Amino acid sequence: MNPNNIYGNSAGSDFLSIINPSLGGNGEANANGDLSMNGNTNTTAAPIAGIAAPFSIPSQPQQFAQSQPQQPKKYAVEAIDLVKDYGTGENAVHALRNINVGFEKGKFTAIMGPSGSGKSTMMHTLAGLDSVTSGEVILGGQDITKMNDNQLTMLRRNEIGFIFQSFNLLPMFTAEQNILMPLTLAGDKVDRKWFNTLVETLGLTQRLKHRPNELSGGQQQRVAIARALISKPQVVFADEPTGNLDSVSSAEVLSFLKRSVREFGQTVVMVTHDAVAASYADRAIVFADGRIVSDVEHPTAEQMSDLLMKESERAARQSAAPTMDQLMNGKPRHAQTVR
Ligand code: ADP
Repeated sequence: MNPNNIYGNSAGSDFLSIINPSLGGNGEANANGDLSMNGNTNTTAAPIAGIAAPFSIPSQPQQFAQSQPQQPKKYAVEAIDLVKDYGTGENAVHALRNINVGFEKGKFTAIMGPSGSGKSTMMHTLAGLDSVTSGEVILGGQDITKMNDNQLTMLRRNEIGFIFQSFNLLPMFTAEQNILMPLTLAGDKVDRKWFNTLVETLGLTQRLKHRPNELSGGQQQRVAIARALISKPQVVFADEPTGNLDSVSSAEVLSFLKRSVREFGQTVVMVTHDAVAASYADRAIVFADGRIVSDVEHPTAEQMSDLLMKESERAARQSAAPTMDQLMNGKPRHAQTVR
């Protein structure tokens, strides 16, 4: 998830704008991550030990607080007949074509596919970051496509953890403050036992007072993982979490994601281009042209590499071949890019 382009036209697209857009405002934090509320939103000071509270937090909307999961499901998140088009008419891009897929609780799933195949759109719609054209996304038993902006904000803050390629830590805060940020913003109490478990497991005990620029890339991503897990979310979405890491740090990060599933029962959905990264997952789904074309249990790196190669070659052939439109009208088609 590149936080600078994941959220479409949102200039302030980053971790904070996902979990703390201005309730009652335009739904976005500004580019500096300024979290001050506007409008008549009820706010309280957000305490962070050792620093002046730089922002305020909204109270939880009653509607979401009172809503209950409809029924227990084996899926942490599920897409039903999910369609996402960008644009309309002959310029429409069919990013997701009637997707039906469930992500089981306590399972680590990788989403793969050539560039432009719909992976990011899938993840954004599952996380309530992008609207859908039709269909449903059931997360924790609720159809999130029916939620308003405030409900989606609370959902992202309480039920979803995010891990980005670029770590996306807040530079002015220590590792500990970054890890606790979702709870701080929500005004929730810290479960110190869980916090200690996370920092010990992630080898961060000696790094808690350090700011991000005093940490290696691998350490920063481990802080980001702890931040994603601190609120025990229904699901963690990771977008190319190893994209900026060397192979040793990548292996550490992937091993921890796997442990979070095995030992803590976490549900993880990870977009990756890397077949080796996908081999850490319990399941890998391959997208091509807005459809799921493969669904593999216990993927191996070799198997995923072969599948990806096949899909990339197919996409390249498809974009090179003239379409019916071109043959009839000489109009260019919307081609997929292939990495
Ligand atoms: P991937 O993550 O697999 O690279 P995406 O989900 O980003 O693919 O994109 C799927 C398709 O949707 C692509 O053809 C892409 O160009 C198109 N697309 C993605 N976002 C937008 C947007 N905001 N406006 C128009 N088209 C978009």
